[in-house]
Amino acid sequence: MAETSRQEQNLRVAIIGGGISGLTAAQQLASLGYDDVVIFEEDTDVGGKIKTFEYEERPYELGALIFNHECPNVLQLAYRYGQPYFAAGKPLLIEQDGTVLTYQELIKQRYGYLSFLAAAYRMLYGRISHPHERDLGFANQDPCLFRPMEEFADVHHIEAATDCIDSFLTGCGYGYYEDIPALYLMKLAPVILKELIASGLSIGEHQGWSIFQNGWQEICRQMAGDLVVRLSSPVTQIRRAGANDVEITANGVTERFGRVILAMPLDEALKFLDATPLEQDLFQRIRYHRYLVTLVEGEGLFTASFKAHVTIDSIGHINFIVQPYADRPVFQLYQLLGQNLKVADALTLAQQDIAKINGKITKIITQKEWRYFPHVTMQDLSHGYYDLLESMQGNNDTYYIGAILSFETVEQTAAYAKDLITRNFGRVRLRATDLAPQRYAGDGKYNQARSEQLRSIERRI
Ligand SMILES: Cc1cc2nc3c(=O)[nH]c(=O)nc-3n(C[C@H](O)[C@H](O)[C@H](O)COP(=O)(O)OP(=O)(O)OC[C@H]3O[C@@H](n4cnc5c(N)ncnc54)[C@H](O)[C@@H]3O)c2cc1C
Repeated sequence: MAETSRQEQNLRVAIIGGGISGLTAAQQLASLGYDDVVIFEEDTDVGGKIKTFEYEERPYELGALIFNHECPNVLQLAYRYGQPYFAAGKPLLIEQDGTVLTYQELIKQRYGYLSFLAAAYRMLYGRISHPHERDLGFANQDPCLFRPMEEFADVHHIEAATDCIDSFLTGCGYGYYEDIPALYLMKLAPVILKELIASGLSIGEHQGWSIFQNGWQEICRQMAGDLVVRLSSPVTQIRRAGANDVEITANGVTERFGRVILAMPLDEALKFLDATPLEQDLFQRIRYHRYLVTLVEGEGLFTASFKAHVTIDSIGHINFIVQPYADRPVFQLYQLLGQNLKVADALTLAQQDIAKINGKITKIITQKEWRYFPHVTMQDLSHGYYDLLESMQGNNDTYYIGAILSFETVEQTAAYAKDLITRNFGRVRLRATDLAPQRYAGDGKYNQARSEQLRSIERRI
C-alpha cells in the first residue's frame, strides 16, 4: 500500500456521489490515512445504480445484478461484509420465432465447437483484447478498438465467438455491435466468453454468474457505515478558488475542501461546476442509453436473452429476462428504449415478445428507467478523448471517477476508483498518461496533432 505524507492526509477531500465509485474512493482514502473525507449524495440512500427493491420479503435488483469470480473487488466486499451470494443459473436463448435453445446448441448449430474455440482463443489471447481487458480505463489504447464491434470482430476473425455472446452484451444494456465501439464492449466480452466456456464444460465447482442474497445495496450501506456520508445533499455549486481550495455548496451551506472527486455523471456536473473549456467540451460529449427495468409477476417465463434483438432495428424489444429465484414467478425485464420510445409502448412490445414464448405478464410490480452506460462516439475516441480526459486528472484539485472512465460495471468502476486514489493520493504519484506526451494544447479544443497521430497508427495497422 502506498504511504502518504501527514500534510496530504490532513487535506479535506469531498466526493460527489455515493454510488460504488464514490464509496470505494472514500474507503481507499481512509486506508491511506485520510481522515477528513466527506461523501455528498443527493439521494436518500447510497448505491446509485446499485438499487435493491424489496418485494414479498425478497430483494430484487433494479440496478446492478450479477457478478462472477472475475470480479475481485466485488468478492472482496462480499467477504469483508460477510454477504452471501447464490448462483444466478444459466441463461437460455430465444430465437425470433420463439424457439428456445442453450448456448451449447447455438454454438453447435451455427459454427461447430472447433471454429468457436479457435475464435474464442483469438479473442481471449490475441494481441489486442488481452491487455485491453486487464487495463483500467481507456487511455492509451490501440486505435483498432475505435471501430464498431461488428467491424472489429470481422477484422480479427472472432465472429464465431462474438456472435455467441451478442445477446448477452445487448441484454446487459451496452447497445449494438453495429454502433458501439469495440473499446467498450471488449472490456466485458472476454469475461462473458470465459464464463460461457467454463459453464459449458461444467468445470468442477464453477458457480457462474452470482447474485447477492441480501441485495447488492446492503453492501453499499455497510460501506457507508464506516464513512462520512451526507445523504439528501445534492451539490449545487463547486468553485475551485485556488490551490487546495475548493468550495462546495450543498443544501445552501458552503464548505472548503482541498480536493474534490466527481463520482457522479460528469455531464450533469456541468450544471454547477465552474468548468474549464476542456471540461465543458469533454463532458458534453457523453452519451447514454435509456435502459428500462421492469419487475413483473408472470407465467411461462425464464432467464433468457433474445438472440433476435441484437440489432438497432429491434430497439424497444425485450433484451433480457431474469428470474432471480426459481421458487418465485417474479421476473426482471430489461429493454433498451432508444431516444423516443415511450415507456407505455415498451410494455406493449414486451407483451408481444413474451407471447411468442407462450408466456404472459400478470402484474407489473415496479419500473425504473436509467440513464445508462456513459460513452462517447467513435469520432471522439479517435480524436484522443480518453487521453485528454485522463490528462486532466488532478488539474484544479479535481479528479473524475465513474463509468465514463472505466466502463459500466460495479467491478470496473470500483477497480478504477481504487486505482486512481492509490496513484494520486499515495506517496508515489502516477497518472495514466505520464508515459504519453502532453496532448492538450490548452485552447479547449482537441489536439489536431494527436488525432493525426492516432489516424496514422490506425493506417499502419
Ligand atoms: C439496470 C442496470 C443493471 C446493471 N447490471 C449490472 C450487473 O449486473 N453487474 C454489474 O457489475 N454492474 C451492473 N450495472 C452497472 C453498475 O450498477 C454501475 O456501473 C455502477 O453501479 C456505477 O457506479 P458509480 O458509483 O460509478 O455511479 P452511480 O451509481 O451512478 O453513482 C453516482 C451517484 O451520484 C449521485 N449524484 C448525482 N448528482 C449528484 C449531486 N449533484 N450531488 C450529490 N450526489 C449526486 C447519484 O445520486 C448517485 O448515487 C447495472 C446498472 C444498471 C442501471
